[in-house]
Amino acid sequence: MKIIVVGGGFAGINLAKGLAGDKNFDVTFVDKNNYNFFPPLIYQVATAYLEPSSISYPFRKLFVHNGNIHFRLGEVLSVKPEENKVVLNNGELEYDRLVFATGAETNYFGMENVRKNAIPMKTLNDAIEMRNKLLQRMEKAAVCKNSRERRKYLNIVVAGGGPTGVEVSGMFAEMRNGVLRREYPELSTSISNIYLVDGGDAVLAPMSKKSQKDTYDALTKLGVIVKLNTRVVDFKDDIVYFHNGETITAKNLIWAAGVSARTFDGIPAESYGRGRRFSVDGYNKVVNTNNIYAIGDTCIMTGIDAAFPDGHPQLAQVAIQQGTLLAKNFKNEIKNKPLKTFKYNDKGSMAIIGKNKAVADIPKPEMHFKGFIAWAMWLFIHLMSLISYRNRITTFYNWMVAYFSKDQSLRMIIRPDKSRKKDEVTSGVS
Ligand SMILES: Cc1cc2nc3c(=O)[nH]c(=O)nc-3n(C[C@H](O)[C@H](O)[C@H](O)COP(=O)(O)OP(=O)(O)OC[C@H]3O[C@@H](n4cnc5c(N)ncnc54)[C@H](O)[C@@H]3O)c2cc1C
Repeated sequence: MKIIVVGGGFAGINLAKGLAGDKNFDVTFVDKNNYNFFPPLIYQVATAYLEPSSISYPFRKLFVHNGNIHFRLGEVLSVKPEENKVVLNNGELEYDRLVFATGAETNYFGMENVRKNAIPMKTLNDAIEMRNKLLQRMEKAAVCKNSRERRKYLNIVVAGGGPTGVEVSGMFAEMRNGVLRREYPELSTSISNIYLVDGGDAVLAPMSKKSQKDTYDALTKLGVIVKLNTRVVDFKDDIVYFHNGETITAKNLIWAAGVSARTFDGIPAESYGRGRRFSVDGYNKVVNTNNIYAIGDTCIMTGIDAAFPDGHPQLAQVAIQQGTLLAKNFKNEIKNKPLKTFKYNDKGSMAIIGKNKAVADIPKPEMHFKGFIAWAMWLFIHLMSLISYRNRITTFYNWMVAYFSKDQSLRMIIRPDKSRKKDEVTSGVS
């Protein structure tokens, strides 16, 4: 059976792993990047705590020993369901089964200025761009004579009080209290504020009330100004505008406030549900299609799993479990065995706030952890979830250096030399 998997994130990789080595399946997975990466840790790349290679891994190396898994670099644009073909930016592929595991993309809720001027936090590219921008702005602040202007460079507004927003604002606060004071003597008397803003009435909305309160208290203690019930409506000329008329002057707006899925030409409009996610049945088959499936963040399954009647949260564990089950169901289908519908096994949720500070909620039995123990749990689970031994070792090493030296030394501004690229293009080098 020829299977095309589009997207090599948590969902796609676990589907491919489940089919690896089974000669009944010829699997090609397509991704617009040539590497898998670990989104929960991109904020540590963005804040120069980890190198990009610590949380990413090339697809070709990952499946080098599995003859039935092939990789194709390309971006899927549309589908021709009547011909069983998927159209890429660099060709077409035929399939017996097509699986979308394309995740979600940043949602700016139609705010064009925010899209143009804010710094997103979704991909590894976003993280590297954020690291470079923030480091460059700190250097600009260091030579800026005007104190008002300098404050614009240093103020950071983080929009979105979910785990990403909490983690990144906590990290900035620790950096301001450590690295900034130590390495930027020019800025020792400058005032810089870190704001975390959210439209809801609590940070970490899906977590327990205890986790919400502990997180709010820990962030405030670190000096983060948490503004709840406050929605960003615009961002232009270095001013962040809120729905209640308030404003904050800052060059840095970090956007961690929402995601939505992406639609593909050729898929009927009735096949999409809330947030443009593919509407799927209990076996992750896209409704109104014959042989197209969707797993992970890009799909929504409603009215099937009793504990999640309105759909599952967009989390790594949901994507992993859906990818694993779909592989089993494809194998069962070939052996004419009964298929299993998806039921999410919620293992709990956690967020890190800073050094020795984290919160964790475990559902069965219901338990809440905070402080050092939650922090140690967070480190262990994230370390073990990295895709390769190599990534685990380099990440562990970097964390240990940062923990014991209270510092990290990855703050290099590395970017392509644009003038050279222009020369190469004009001289015909490609
Ligand atoms: C900053 C951040 C922090 C997070 N922290 C946590 C956390 O702590 N815990 C947790 O459980 N979840 C967390 N999440 C959510 C979690 O990362 C997602 O739920 C999970 O990645 C979904 O997996 P997926 O396989 O569906 O999609 P993804 O992991 O997003 O993978 C999608 C893949 O599809 C590829 N792709 C997309 N479109 C195309 C196309 N048209 N053609 C070809 N390839 C394409 C992409 O390159 C990517 O490789 C976080 C997310 C972010 C962004």
